[in-house]
Amino acid sequence: MNNIFIGLGSNLSDPIQQILMAVDTLKKIPETRVIKRSSLYASPPMGPQDQPDYVNAVVELNSELSAHKLLDELQTIEQKQGRVRLRHWGERTLDLDILVYGEQKIDDERLTVPHSGIKERAFVLYPLAEIAPDLIIPQFGNIANLVQNCSRSGLNKINLDLI
Ligand code: ATP
Ligand code: CA
Ligand code: CA
Repeated sequence: MNNIFIGLGSNLSDPIQQILMAVDTLKKIPETRVIKRSSLYASPPMGPQDQPDYVNAVVELNSELSAHKLLDELQTIEQKQGRVRLRHWGERTLDLDILVYGEQKIDDERLTVPHSGIKERAFVLYPLAEIAPDLIIPQFGNIANLVQNCSRSGLNKINLDLI
């Protein structure tokens, strides 16, 4: 059984619902259980600035699938939720990234794990620290230290009770 963290992001077609729907679909992946979901967060876009703000979250999974099999499942979910590739770091209905996959370090043509963007992305670090405050990320270290070195840069927790 592997302990895995997935980063979710959306900024098109009702992003909050896109994220909640994706979490429900993650529950249906074979040999996989959803353990925790972070709060949802609103964050300014990375890359092109002429796109809507994002909704982000992090989910913890336990799975027997290999990282590559899991990526297949995640990409199928992205497709089902209408992901279209327009421009690098551009707008999307759903993005699912493998942030951490147990203790594994992977670097091949399809996968870099731990995800290379973790350290400088507030929208990854803060939700990850919310659900796994004691996590030690292979190569990057302790989540608490990483959070301390990363400003929130416009990240705001979304109160779902108000929606
Ligand atoms: P970023 O990876 O910087 O967050 P992005 O999410 O916008 O950018 P995508 O267009 O969604 O990038 O993905 C491009 C490719 O990244 C995917 O086809 C996949 O093969 C590869 N990839 C490498 N490492 C990972 C990972 N840890 N999780 C998901 N995809 C990954
Ligand atoms: Ca991404
Ligand atoms: Ca991605």
